[in-house]
Order: sequence, then structure tokens, then C-alpha cells
Amino acid sequence: MEKQFYLNYAKLAEKLATQCNVKIREYDQRDQISFTPYIYNVCSANCRFCSEKLVRDGNVMVCGDLVGDYRLRLLDVFDQVKKRPLFLSLSGKEPTESPQQLETILQCANLYDNITDRVMYTNLSGFGRDFQQLRDIIVDGGLTRIECSRHHYDEDVNQTIMNFRNRYQIKTNECFENTVRQLLPLVDLKMVCVIQKTGVKDYDDIIKYIQFARRIGVKNLVFRELAMFDDSIEDGVTTKYIEENRIEIMEILQALDKEAFQLTNITKGYYYFSFGYKYQGEMNVSFEMSDYEEMISKHYGDKIYKLILYPNGKLCTDWNMKGEIELKDLRL
Ligand code: SF4
Repeated sequence: MEKQFYLNYAKLAEKLATQCNVKIREYDQRDQISFTPYIYNVCSANCRFCSEKLVRDGNVMVCGDLVGDYRLRLLDVFDQVKKRPLFLSLSGKEPTESPQQLETILQCANLYDNITDRVMYTNLSGFGRDFQQLRDIIVDGGLTRIECSRHHYDEDVNQTIMNFRNRYQIKTNECFENTVRQLLPLVDLKMVCVIQKTGVKDYDDIIKYIQFARRIGVKNLVFRELAMFDDSIEDGVTTKYIEENRIEIMEILQALDKEAFQLTNITKGYYYFSFGYKYQGEMNVSFEMSDYEEMISKHYGDKIYKLILYPNGKLCTDWNMKGEIELKDLRL
């Protein structure tokens, strides 16, 4: 059953769609499967809201080292889902800090022609250290898009949120901007900013962030709301931070200057909504919300939306290894 929070956004989507004469696109997950070969490492950052630190129903995710025959295990999964369109999500901890695993995944993916998107979610730290190595991996691997996290235009404020470890130069705006400028000719790139009370928090900040991205040459941006969850997530520092610092994008959407922002698309995903705007006719600016409880309930239904291959070889339909599934039981 859809939760109230998700329903509130459904209502908002209907209202905006009518007002702006825009169709709501339902993301058809019956066909496409999202597959994450989970990349596990010590992340270069330590974001205050990092969902990897949340504990659900007493289960802490334990990944372990890469299973000995990782490449074979990966190929088995790709083989099993080769008849379905696949969205390949390169994520987990920080993908650019595990270049060899990243290369293995992309090399295996290149053996299949059902993969529609190869998207990497990253804070770019590895590029800041060794651009050439990662450049070759993503170009040879045919990466489709990078979604890079940067949560404030001011590097000091960004650092209070992301807490990059000392040795990572990407924490400076100079390194971040240079890295993004080098990537732009190579791959589609979207900057991702999570709105929160300690960072980008209101309409003025949104405009300053857009100007920051425009100065670097980025045309695609997304502002995300901190995820919504319920009591199954245990109390802790991260949970408290998220609860205290959430800002609903609903408030931001209502404050948008309608002359500057034109609504062009609304997407209804299986646990999220995305509201896409054209800003001053040139920038694509989306606002997204997600509801973890909605997501979890879908992951435990009959239909397969998501597959995650953990480094230890476990294949799961959800993020905390509870939804483990045997390859032979995968009904697609
Ligand atoms: S960059 Fe991503 S994985 Fe790393 S701490 Fe931040 S949210 Fe977590």
C-alpha cells in the first residue's frame, strides 16, 4: 500500500501536471531492472546523512571482500537477466575508490547488449587523485552518465556536510571544478545536491547553487530531498541528523519563480517522484523525493525491481541482504 508521504507527492504531481499541462510519466519498471553490483570500500567522504550508515531492523550490512570468482558470479547474473532491459547502477560506497572492480564490472557489462544505461554515482574523489586511470576505465567501459554529489557551492560548508578525509583534494572547489570540466567532454554529467538545513536550504541557495554549476559548465542538476523512512530504521546519529535537517522539496517547489522555472516533466517512479524544470531556458533542474518505506515494500513484492550483487557474492532484491535470492529462483 502506498504510504501517506508518497501519496502527498502523488497529489502534488497531479496538481502541477494539470496547472502546467504536463503529463506524468510512469517509470515502467515491469520491463527494466535496476542492477547494482555493489562497490564496497572505505568511502573517501563521511556524509552526515549517508544512507549506508543506517541500520534497518537490526541488520547491519556486511559485505566482506570480493568473492574469489567475482567476475564469473557477475557474468552469471548478467546472463540471467539478459532478456530484460537493464539499468546498471555503479554505486554502493565510492566507485572511484575501487577502480579495478569498476573496470571489471564495465568490461563484463560490455559483453551484453541489453544494458540501456550505465550510470555511476560518485563524489569524484578518485578522479581528483588519478584522472587518467579512471578516464580510461569509463571511456573504454562506455559509461553513460555520472551523477556527482556536491552539496554546497561553498567548499567549507560542503566539507561540514561531506567530511572528506584529509588527503582527498576533491574537497576543494578548485579540484572539484577542474575534475568536472575535464569530465564534461567525455560523459553526460549531472550534479547532485541534497537539500538540508545545514546546506542548500531555500530558494536563494538553490539559485546560488545553479550559478555555481553554470560557471563550471554543467547543464544538468538535481536537488534531492533527504529520504523519508519509518520506525524500521534504528535511532542513531545519522537518523537524528536526517530527521532534524530534512526540508521537503514541496516547500521549495512552491517558492520557485514561475518565470525562471518552467516545468517540463514529471516522473513517477516506484518509490520516488522527479519534477523536471528548465531554468532560464538553458539548464535542466530536477527536484526529487524518495520514500524508503515505499521502496522496501516494493522490493519484497512479487515483481523484481532491483537486484544487488554484494561483493561477497550474495544476490539480493533489497539493500540489507535480507532479500537474498538464488539465481535459479529469479523469475523474470
Ligand atoms: S559519498 Fe556517498 S557513500 Fe560516501 S559517505 Fe557520502 S553518501 Fe556515503
